[in-house]
Amino acid sequence: MIEVCSVGGYSEVGKNMTALKIDNEVVIFDMGIFLPAIINYEEEGNDRSNLDREGMIALGAVPDDSCIDDWKDKVKAILVGHCHLDHIAAIPYLAERYRAPIYGTPYTIEVIKEMMHDDSKRIRNSLKAVNINAKVKISENLQAEFINVTHSTLQTTIIAVHCKYGTIIYANDFKFDNHPVLGNKPNLKRLRELGNENVLLLILDSLYADTEMKTPSEKVAREMLRDVMLDTECQDSLIIVTTFASHIPRLKSVIDFARTMRRKVIFLGRSMMKYTLSAEKCKLVDFSKKVEIVPYARNIKKKLKDIEKDRKKYVIVATGNQGEPDSVLSKMLDGRLPFNFEPADHVIFSTRVIPDPVNLANRNEMEEKLRERRVRIFTNIHVSGHACREDHRDMLKILKPKFLMPAHDGRKKQLFMRELAVEEGWKEDNVLLMDDGKKVTLNF
Ligand SMILES: [Zn+2]
Ligand SMILES: [Zn+2]
Repeated sequence: MIEVCSVGGYSEVGKNMTALKIDNEVVIFDMGIFLPAIINYEEEGNDRSNLDREGMIALGAVPDDSCIDDWKDKVKAILVGHCHLDHIAAIPYLAERYRAPIYGTPYTIEVIKEMMHDDSKRIRNSLKAVNINAKVKISENLQAEFINVTHSTLQTTIIAVHCKYGTIIYANDFKFDNHPVLGNKPNLKRLRELGNENVLLLILDSLYADTEMKTPSEKVAREMLRDVMLDTECQDSLIIVTTFASHIPRLKSVIDFARTMRRKVIFLGRSMMKYTLSAEKCKLVDFSKKVEIVPYARNIKKKLKDIEKDRKKYVIVATGNQGEPDSVLSKMLDGRLPFNFEPADHVIFSTRVIPDPVNLANRNEMEEKLRERRVRIFTNIHVSGHACREDHRDMLKILKPKFLMPAHDGRKKQLFMRELAVEEGWKEDNVLLMDDGKKVTLNF
């Protein structure tokens, strides 16, 4: 018998966590946070380091995993698909409740280690790195396979769990990018093989199920960035880029164009350091040969003074792409990090605002402050890391799952996904619409 519990990420964008019970054994996919809840809490002057599991659940910041209390002792593995916080950052709060190892790709595991170190957190679970496209035996009956796919960070995988009944596939998050700037193309060959076998269930990232397109390649974002960095009037002005610290391919493009301009690249902020160092430990990039990383406030202050003296020599990459109040860019704007912006300075948002009211308000405030300083603002120099509707269609055609469970957002997107599956010949009943904390049994 196969049961699934949609623990989190089915009623909001964030705190992804799904539990899969096969006979008497359970595996968990992801343990993520809902970041806006934490930002809100910290904006009110609170410190989240005081919060434990219960406190974080009450805040709505981590999934309420009490819905699988009765499965707790059966958990054999925690399988993590990629390193984004909405997929890994609840690990320090929840993982120890399960006596099971955590499996992920080497980069994902490295980021988890850095995250724990940075927050001075410890867990008893062992962390096990599995190579891209490799399989790992998690019990006598179960195998997990980490299949390479593209997204907006490195070493993202689609996880296939093999059991005697067939295969269950967790594709949350992904995009199909055949021209990645860094990393390999999606392993479509393996996905096609699985599609010709017996895929019982596909849990699918549905964030853009309503967007009728194929998500453009990261190459497109690279070209957008090239246009702004190399083909605008910016000879005497400073260039400031802000993007997701985990978006290593995007950072590579920024570094490449800065080098063409013969400018020095400075990464400012702790999270810039965390993701970059993790990638270097896995030998995926060698940024620190090309970039100066300044993680801490005191050193940032000094560095900003140097930059102001000769601004045309630099490209800054700073945290703050969602307008986060504690980011480097926010601090540069409200005086916590003294810095004089000049008109004609370029501020490039190589990102999209994650459409949550907290983020939207924060970004708006940040852009207002930038406008007051009359800097040049370039927004949306970005393409998404998430699949759109025509990628979903391809995924359904390739994997041909018996059941489909749309994930990574609430009911509205799930309904768009069901509509698409019905167009492709699925029965409505085989598309499982879930809310956080609900269980379903697969009748196959
Ligand atoms: Zn992601
Ligand atoms: Zn996600």
